[in-house]
Amino acid sequence: MSTQEHPLGISFEFFPPNTDAGRERLVGVRDALASRAPRFFSVTFGAGGSTQDRTLNTVRMVRESGFTTTPHLSCIGSDKGALRELLARYREDGIESLVALRGDMPSGMGGGGIGQLRYANELVEFIREETGDHFEIAVAAYPESHPQAANLEQDLTNFARKMKAGADIAITQYFFSAESYFHFVERARALGVEAPIVPGIMPITNYTKLARFSDACGAEIPRWIRKQLESYGDDSEAIGAFGEELVTRLCQRLLDGGAPGLHFYTLNQAKPVLRILDNITG
Ligand code: FAD
Repeated sequence: MSTQEHPLGISFEFFPPNTDAGRERLVGVRDALASRAPRFFSVTFGAGGSTQDRTLNTVRMVRESGFTTTPHLSCIGSDKGALRELLARYREDGIESLVALRGDMPSGMGGGGIGQLRYANELVEFIREETGDHFEIAVAAYPESHPQAANLEQDLTNFARKMKAGADIAITQYFFSAESYFHFVERARALGVEAPIVPGIMPITNYTKLARFSDACGAEIPRWIRKQLESYGDDSEAIGAFGEELVTRLCQRLLDGGAPGLHFYTLNQAKPVLRILDNITG
């Protein structure tokens, strides 16, 4: 892929590992993916405290690669004082970009609206009030609609409000239908959103996990893809090969159709992502 054609290029998302072995493995994954000169790496964040230090520690480790590393930050279950402190900590650490989210409470702890800031647009406003233009801010977008949204229309209005609050780019939830992305971008543009909307890409390596995750986050796996993946049973090689071809085609279509880059949900694995990138032609 040529980064001239796609000026935002590629980015890779990690989650903070919770074991020493996971941390060691991630160093190798980071180095393998750094060979593709990403625009940035990002590290996810869990609501409710315990994983906040893990996010920062992982960000520090990933930054040793020399590439920009962006922490995700969520406001659910947090108050302004705690967020202010975290922003100050990130600034002191030299961090210049954030992915700003409402987040989800851990299961069993209720839905949205918990905390002083109720939605991501309020978090974006707060970050801008507190830190001006210091951080480049990315937010989440949902081409197939956020699972709690009443309808596509309201979700899109909420998305546009979040962008207008001061976000610089958006990264989408993953999806397997390129049309849903193009349709979303078209409608966001009609609402005056001009910022880049980067598609989030989920490589397919494990059907059971993918199905569980997709049901939880509202990402649609088209029936024919489910059927095909189900037919492979435990044959992980067949699942990987089918997934690689499918996701490569999706990425190619997105880039050919004008997507400004690709953000990979790596699940802390390098190989499936590298194979897809190797297949994409410029
Ligand atoms: P919001 O934009 O606040 O939207 C949440 C819901 O509220 C939507 O249904 C929306 O339509 C509605 N809404 C928004 N604003 C308003 C308003 N002003 N009034 C009324 N309704 C409104 N989760 C994590 O816990 N950690 C992570 O690191 C993480 N990283 C992510 C990265 C990406 C790229 C994506 C796509 C998702 C990520 N998530 C993460 C998941 C995300 O936190 C959940 O999807 C969460 O439920 C919504 O967060 P949000 O920032 O999109 O919320």
